[in-house]
Amino acid sequence: MRLQEYQGKELFQRVGIPISAGKVALSPLEAEQAARALGGTVVVKAQVLVGGRGKAGGIKLARSPEEARAHAENIFQLQIKGERVRKVLVTEAVEIEREFYLSITIDRAAKKPVVIFSPEGGMEIEELASAHPEKIVKFHIDPLIGLQPYQVRTALYQASMEPTSLKLLSDIFFKLYQAFTQYRANLVEINPLALAAGKLIAVDSKFIIDDDDVPAELAGWEEEELAGSPEERAAKQADLQYVKLDGTIGVIGNGAGLVMATLDVVALKGGRPANFLDIGGGASAEVMKQALQIVLSDSQVQGLFINIFGGITRCDEVARGLVATQRELGIRVPMVVRLTGTNETEGRKILHAQGITPVADMEEGAAEIVRRVMAHST
Ligand code: GDP
Ligand code: MN
Repeated sequence: MRLQEYQGKELFQRVGIPISAGKVALSPLEAEQAARALGGTVVVKAQVLVGGRGKAGGIKLARSPEEARAHAENIFQLQIKGERVRKVLVTEAVEIEREFYLSITIDRAAKKPVVIFSPEGGMEIEELASAHPEKIVKFHIDPLIGLQPYQVRTALYQASMEPTSLKLLSDIFFKLYQAFTQYRANLVEINPLALAAGKLIAVDSKFIIDDDDVPAELAGWEEEELAGSPEERAAKQADLQYVKLDGTIGVIGNGAGLVMATLDVVALKGGRPANFLDIGGGASAEVMKQALQIVLSDSQVQGLFINIFGGITRCDEVARGLVATQRELGIRVPMVVRLTGTNETEGRKILHAQGITPVADMEEGAAEIVRRVMAHST
C-alpha cells in the first residue's frame, strides 16, 4: 500500500526525521484555517498517490490564509495524472538552501535493500538518473547486519559532501533505514531532503508498504476512495445531508421536505440554488456552524438563505450557531434568515443583537435573497 505524503511524514516523525508542522484540510476553508493556525508562509500540497505534483500545479506557496484558501480552491479542482485531489496538506514553508535525494528500496535482483543518495535533490530520480548519472551514489545493505556507519561515510565522500555535513546526513540515513525496516516498506524516499538553517527536513515523503505484511499499527491507513466534491466530503464527515448543485444561492434548512421546497421557491423567484443542505431535527448550534462552513466553502455561493421551521429544532440554537459563525468567520455574502417555531422569540433576539433581522415567511425570504444576490452581482 502507498501512503499519502502526510501519512509518510507521520512515520518519519515517529523515527525522528524532522518534518515541518502541517495540517490536513478537506476543503478550501479548512486550508485557510490551517494556514491561520500555522501562521506565516505556508505550502498547500495536493495529497495524491502520484509524483510530480509540483509540475502539475498541485503545490503552491501562500503568504496569507486567504491566499492558502484561494490556492486550495484551485488545487481541489485538479486531476493529477488522472487522480482527483481529495485532501490537501498545509505545511509551514521551509526556506530551502539545498535539496538532497535519499531513498531505500528493495533491489529484487540482489534481494537486498539498496540506498540511493544524490546531492542534487528536487527532480524525480528517473530524470536525475538520465541527466546526471554521475551525481547518484548507490550501495546495498546486508539485511542481516543492517546499515553500517562506514557505508554511509563512503557514500557521502563519493557524493563529495563537505565533512561538516556528514553527521547531519548520516543521522537521516539511519533513521530512514529504521523506518524502512520497522514499517516493512518496499520503498521509502525523501525528495527533497532539504537543508534549512543548519537542519535537515523531509519536505516530501514517499512510502510503499508491503501489502502482504502491513504492520498492525497501520491498519486502516489505506485511503478509501471517497467520492464527491470537497464540500460533500466535509458534509459526510460532519454527518450532514448535503448535495452540491450548480447555482449561487446557498440553502440551509431543517428537514429534507422543507429544504426541497426551499430550493423550489428559490428557483421560482428566479434564483439558482447552490446546494441542498438539511441540518436534520434537533440540530445544535455546533451543527449549524458546521453547516454554514460547508456551504460558505463553496466559492460559487453569492448569497445565503436559511430556512428554519422550528419543531424539535430550536430557533435559539440555530441563531447561536449562526451568530458564532458570523463572529468567527465573517459571512461576506448577503444573507436572509427565515426563523419560526420553537423558541422563535429567543432566536430572534439573538439575531437582532447581531444586526440580523429574520423574516417570518419562506416565500418572502426567497424573493428577498434572490433580489439581493442580483443587486450584488450587477
Ligand atoms: P512533488 O512535486 O510531488 O515531488 O512534491 P514535493 O513535495 O517534492 O514538492 C515539489 C517541489 O516544491 C520541491 O522539490 C521544492 O522545490 C518545492 N517545495 C515544496 N515544499 C517547499 C517548501 O516548504 N519550501 C520551498 N522553498 N520549496 C518547497
Ligand atoms: Mn517530491
